[in-house]
Amino acid sequence: MSLAGLSKHQTSRRGVVYGIIGMTVALVATVIVVLTRAWGSSSLPLGVTLLVVAVVVGAIIGLWRARTVEMTGMPQLIALFHSFVGAAAVLVGWNGAIDTTGIPADLLGVHHGEVFIGVFIGGVTLTGSVVAFLKLSARISSKPLMLPGKNALNIGALVVFVGLTVWYIAAPQLWLLIVVTALALALGWHLVASIGGGDMPVVISMLNSYSGWAAAAAGFLLNNDLLIVTGALVGSSGAYLSYIMCKAMNRSFLSVIAGGFGIEAPSKTDAGGGEHREIDAAGAAAMLEGASSVIITPGYGMAVAQAQYPVAELARRLREQGVDVRFGIHPVAGRLPGHMNVLLAEARVPYDIVLEMDEINDDFASTSVVLVIGANDTVNPAAAEDPGSPIAGMPVLRVWEAENVIVFKRSMAAGYAGVDNPLFYRDNAQMLFGDAKERVEDILKVLTSQSEASEGQAR
Ligand code: NDP
Repeated sequence: MSLAGLSKHQTSRRGVVYGIIGMTVALVATVIVVLTRAWGSSSLPLGVTLLVVAVVVGAIIGLWRARTVEMTGMPQLIALFHSFVGAAAVLVGWNGAIDTTGIPADLLGVHHGEVFIGVFIGGVTLTGSVVAFLKLSARISSKPLMLPGKNALNIGALVVFVGLTVWYIAAPQLWLLIVVTALALALGWHLVASIGGGDMPVVISMLNSYSGWAAAAAGFLLNNDLLIVTGALVGSSGAYLSYIMCKAMNRSFLSVIAGGFGIEAPSKTDAGGGEHREIDAAGAAAMLEGASSVIITPGYGMAVAQAQYPVAELARRLREQGVDVRFGIHPVAGRLPGHMNVLLAEARVPYDIVLEMDEINDDFASTSVVLVIGANDTVNPAAAEDPGSPIAGMPVLRVWEAENVIVFKRSMAAGYAGVDNPLFYRDNAQMLFGDAKERVEDILKVLTSQSEASEGQAR
């Protein structure tokens, strides 16, 4: 019910409430199961104390992070959450390896296999998510790491894992577990480090999928059906989301999940250079007043500037004046799937004027003005026109086909993928430099003073 609710804007609040109820039921049921199993045993007080301490510490950290996180920090927070699932799977695996009491002798081989697989998936998820966190929070470069023979390294690691698993099932020894843990941690690190900036959205949903499989593996070890079912659900839906995103970005699914398999180091592209033109808030306001149709394409910069409120206000004002205003949303705009939709919903932009890329891409050619609010990679013509570009083939919003384009950003800097953008030098494009929120507010001020002046004249 939660997932169904979350699939539409209108019902998403209800979906979240169902999710909260579901998680509460799961938590309470878990506590009851633990208590009834341990009832009367001497370890009950210690068990209950540990349970309460774990829940309180977890709840405090969770509440604090969720309350303080900025919308722009959500992707890295999610990456960090995935790393916790990975860490938990590794710990559960190690616990299962050390404590084999109560497992029937004929099932020990299966148990050892589960331990190894759980530790491996968990380890890959743990370091992969940490690297994703570091890349998304710009603590390390988003450029792909290009080790010589990187594909051979990845495949070699998988082959060694299979060999070690067979060995461990036949003769479980602690050193094998240590080796597989180190191998998984190194592979997770390498897999995500090898993936370039433009493919990071897929990596996040892929890590989401890995975290699901890690949870399912832990479910087998803990003999917990609920964990197996939810883990498998997260694992398969994450894999499917990665597949959909790869299709949307014209990327090979297999090459991305295999750590950028077959993707070569990008060649340097030429943005065309030349002169860019600038416009100020008054000029932009005048252009908007004369426009019959406007499309707004927001990107990550709108999230950074928290410009969604003045942008929503600008759209409202222009619509009042009879201008046809719509929003065009690229599937990977911002830093997480649906990022722009969340921001626009927060600012109460009506859903029916917020359109997906495929729904609006053919309309740019007949549009008077496009406002590019802090978007860059998602409106880069090089993706469509320059086969040598690192983002070649990725579908983008064809904003350059419009009569006029105004680009809101602070400088001529590249976007997340680190690729130059020839849009800025097009004859029909003008740059409006500065913080997107401040610049949109400046335009609103000009529009307000103009309408006050014309009202004064009318009186
Ligand atoms: P980009 O990251 O390409 O560009 C954002 C632009 O916003 C920058 O060029 C920056 O320019 C500008 N900007 C930043 N702060 C401000 C501000 N305060 N005011 C005005 N402008 C600002 O954004 P897009 O949304 O176009 O593309 C998203 C990129 O992120 C894609 O490459 C995508 O692959 C990647 N990605 C997407 C994820 C997802 O799930 N959606 C996840 C991870 C990565 P300047 O510094 O000059 O102001």
